[in-house]
Amino acid sequence: MSRVLVIGCGGVANVAIRKCCQVSEVFSEMCIASRTKAKCDALAADLKDKTTTKITTAHVDADKVEELVALIKAYQPDLVMNIALPYQDLTIMDACLEAGVNYMDTANYEPEDTEDPEWRAIYEKRCQEAGFSAYFDYSWQWAYREKFAKAGLMALLGCGFDPGVTQAYCAYAKKHEFDTIDTIDILDCNGGDHGYAFATNFNPEINLREVSAPGSYWEDGHWVEVPAMSIKREYDFDSVGHKDMYLLHHEEIESLALNIPKVKRIRFFMTFGQSYLTHMKCLENVGMLSTTPINFEGREIVPIQFLKALLPDPASLGPRTHGKTNIGCIFTGKKDGQDKTYYIYNVCDHQECYKEVQSQAISYTTGVPAMCGALMMLTGQWNKAGVYTVEEMNPDPFLEALDKYGLPRSESHNPVLVD
Ligand code: NDP
Repeated sequence: MSRVLVIGCGGVANVAIRKCCQVSEVFSEMCIASRTKAKCDALAADLKDKTTTKITTAHVDADKVEELVALIKAYQPDLVMNIALPYQDLTIMDACLEAGVNYMDTANYEPEDTEDPEWRAIYEKRCQEAGFSAYFDYSWQWAYREKFAKAGLMALLGCGFDPGVTQAYCAYAKKHEFDTIDTIDILDCNGGDHGYAFATNFNPEINLREVSAPGSYWEDGHWVEVPAMSIKREYDFDSVGHKDMYLLHHEEIESLALNIPKVKRIRFFMTFGQSYLTHMKCLENVGMLSTTPINFEGREIVPIQFLKALLPDPASLGPRTHGKTNIGCIFTGKKDGQDKTYYIYNVCDHQECYKEVQSQAISYTTGVPAMCGALMMLTGQWNKAGVYTVEEMNPDPFLEALDKYGLPRSESHNPVLVD
């Protein structure tokens, strides 16, 4: 029996909330709070006769700590699930500290305004010192470690699929399959087709920022940065087939480099079709991916936010998307003195997801781990004061929950490696 406050009611939150409502014995009461309360009300109305979870809704501007604190104090949840945007991570963490409640999210902090001079100065220093230039990194949220530990509260960072499940796969490989892990390749394949020439599968602004940034990987104790989309490989994915994939910077590489001792190399690859890449390059070339406001006919607009308004809402892709995703990790390393390889992954079908929760598989593969991470925290299976990423937790009950609630693992002990 527990009470959760979910912040955000977009594509991922819709799945997480629907999945929580399938486990009402744990998620017995829930408040859905977001910027657009009408979306929360519509979801609550849809779920009313389908679950015994008692649902209420609220309006909140999660950029405002005082509004969040008032809501948390009034509702008194056991856990706040931040499924809004990465822009709100720090305000929601501040509010959780002030109101004395545990916290979780699905993506690490990045600022909405990347031209903010205060943020920019810290960012540029980090680019120089750390050697990667993505807008997001863990430093902002790791800075809360002591505060959460002192308050006796837990914050779980990045509990979606990647980040999230991919780190649990690493923890599982480290615990059960290897004495030492040498290399990790995280492979994120979306074999789905929504029929549009161009659309993003989750929040367009966050998605396009991520994929247009330089790629980077971890090798021999430091970052190697390369131009965006400059490293391409082809891989034959189980249940999907041959796909081109490109090396990206991705947030979990940063924490895995710390938490997987002696790892020599960590890379992240994501599949993209040619149409997506051509559109993205064109939009980038004409300035539509910019986050810097411009003046248009007397009004300030942010190009990437205007683009978001033009693109299909990711939540509307569900009925149109056919095909499967395949996301997982390939490891090389040693066990009992012998060289060893191992691949653990999940295959998820877009249409099956749509039938179950009216969503495509990208939101599903993020929303289900968010629910399972919350389940771990609410049932005390993951319970440590401080700020943690998923690979720092016991992977076994989490992977069992994923198996049970819709994202079962597959394994290979003889995978084809990525060169
Ligand atoms: P959406 O844009 O669909 O939803 C975001 C939600 O947050 C909307 O309901 C939005 O409200 C709400 N929101 C935005 N700003 C505020 C605010 N200031 N106050 C209150 N609510 C606010 O995003 P997604 O569902 O696609 O993504 C959700 C999160 O999941 C993101 O952080 C994303 O990065 C992450 N993600 C993680 C993945 C993983 O594998 N780890 C994969 C995919 C996504 P409104 O409706 O008014 O706009």
